[in-house]
Amino acid sequence: MNNKFKYFRESLKLVWQSAPGWTFANILLSVLRSILPLLLIWLLKNLVDELTKTVSLNSPEVLPSILWLITAVVIIWFVDEATSDLGNYVRKKQSMKLEIHMYGLIHSKSVRLDLLNFEYSGYFDSLSRASREAPWRPNSILNNIVSVFRSLLSLMLMAGVLVVLHWAVALLLFVVNIPGIWLRLKYAGTLYNFQREQTPEARKAAYFNWLLTGDRPSREIRLFGLGDYFTVLFKKSFLKTKEEEIRIIRKRTVIELVSDLVKASAVMITLVFLTRETIGGKLTLGHMTMFVLAFRQGMMYIKDLLSSLAGLYEDSLFIGDIFEFLNLEEKIKAFPPVAEIREFSSDIRVNNISFTYPGNNTHTIKDVSFNIRKGEVIAVVGPNGAGKTTLVRLLCRLYDPDSGSISIDGKNLKNLDPDQYRKLLSVVFQDFMLYNLGAGENIRLGNISESNASENIISAARITGIHDLINDLPDGYSTIIGNLFNDSRELSWGEWQKLALSRALFRDAPLLILDEPSSALDADTEYEIFSRFREIVRGRTSILISHRFTNVSLADRIVVLANGSIAEIGTHDELLENKGMYHAMYTKQTSRFRK
Ligand code: ATP
Repeated sequence: MNNKFKYFRESLKLVWQSAPGWTFANILLSVLRSILPLLLIWLLKNLVDELTKTVSLNSPEVLPSILWLITAVVIIWFVDEATSDLGNYVRKKQSMKLEIHMYGLIHSKSVRLDLLNFEYSGYFDSLSRASREAPWRPNSILNNIVSVFRSLLSLMLMAGVLVVLHWAVALLLFVVNIPGIWLRLKYAGTLYNFQREQTPEARKAAYFNWLLTGDRPSREIRLFGLGDYFTVLFKKSFLKTKEEEIRIIRKRTVIELVSDLVKASAVMITLVFLTRETIGGKLTLGHMTMFVLAFRQGMMYIKDLLSSLAGLYEDSLFIGDIFEFLNLEEKIKAFPPVAEIREFSSDIRVNNISFTYPGNNTHTIKDVSFNIRKGEVIAVVGPNGAGKTTLVRLLCRLYDPDSGSISIDGKNLKNLDPDQYRKLLSVVFQDFMLYNLGAGENIRLGNISESNASENIISAARITGIHDLINDLPDGYSTIIGNLFNDSRELSWGEWQKLALSRALFRDAPLLILDEPSSALDADTEYEIFSRFREIVRGRTSILISHRFTNVSLADRIVVLANGSIAEIGTHDELLENKGMYHAMYTKQTSRFRK
């Protein structure tokens, strides 16, 4: 309960922070709208009474008071309509500001969060619930709170009017709505629990939908004829979530209909009572009109009040999801004693590190130690699954080792601000990114803070041999590449890899990490790049992961990984002499060409 109040407070703070002026206007208009209907009813009562008087006088003249009353009714009616329209606009504007604010929070959180979170399916559930709810839920809290107060105020005023008629009528107004209150609260909880349980299934449905409609899967889906198969899986997941929801809503609708019947009986009782009193001469026609309108209006306010209360209850259930996500803790941060690093001047030491992925029961990296001196080219080789990519991720501090440490210039990575440390690194990942942006922009993303970059972009593109191709594109370096947008040009996989390599080279970082950088390059380009490798990496310290031993042999030292541990370490010649694992892998690969 305490948490709910805290989250309510936090949500209101978010709403206010995102648009203080619009929030104030929204509240003001809402309060104004709660008073206008009563004023309107009171004017109508007077109008009916004046008309009755005129009719009973049998006078052909329209009294000036009637004209005044008609004008007043029209003005109030207009103000009511105008504030309603204005309120819609203000609410839209305020929602838009809040949405931007909330998306900002969600996005900045998801890019800061530890990579390890992506190992947990619970993280994706939390992210999907948070991004579904965050843009609008805090506003819903504000609107529901305002609406509760507005409806309460109006309801009290209307009930006051009805008490004048008979206290029992006012009581009836409240009593007949009790089943509705119970119903809304009960089903808000049921629907929330249902939706929470369904998040993994809903994500599964979204995944199958992507397989059927996305660009990447499109080729395999056609080739293997998987369309019908995934359509069936999608339908199954989708229906599983929707059918249960419909069942809950159906049950709720039936009970709602019963509660509507109870309310209709209350209207009947009130009308019969009012008619009797009017015919008996105890009420004027004006009074009768006023009471009928007050009763109807009162019913509407109770309905509003109920749906706002139920809405608030629902908000209290869902709001936790947003804060659960926003409060996820980041563990990759600078731990005290915090150290600073601006440049790389001496060496990197990997001291006895071990690492296990969550959910795995064996070490992926086990007791690994080696060092990298400034300016060295280190190659990491080993069979598939040996742990090479994981080692790179640990060196980038995307994960922290479970035990042991990595230090740079004698400073433990854990004591460094990860953003500051990563400024020293440039990486081509095995699963590098394809950005559907301009060709030049794709390279510039390696160092987005460099403003006057065109010359360096071109020279990075020349090094990887992609410059001529970009130059020949319709808009040169401004051509949008990929296939997502209009007027864009798709590239081959190898050309994308050249772009990724150019991006890494464009970043003027002292440490260069290349994880399979040439897997898709043609033999000429690969030869061209690797025969000039030293010149390309010019004074940078480089770590190269490759399965191609001709490239690996260029390195100063080679680390051979097997099952997450170091099997051997040394220069190409030393390792060949050792006749160990490296020798075996090397001779196997090169013997094919000698045959
Ligand atoms: P390859 O040559 O195929 O690229 P690698 O040497 O780079 O392989 P890694 O990608 O580091 O190997 O994987 C090492 C081991 O860790 C593998 O057994 C793999 O199944 C496991 N692994 C890799 N990524 C994850 C992950 N995100 N979650 C759980 N286990 C993982």
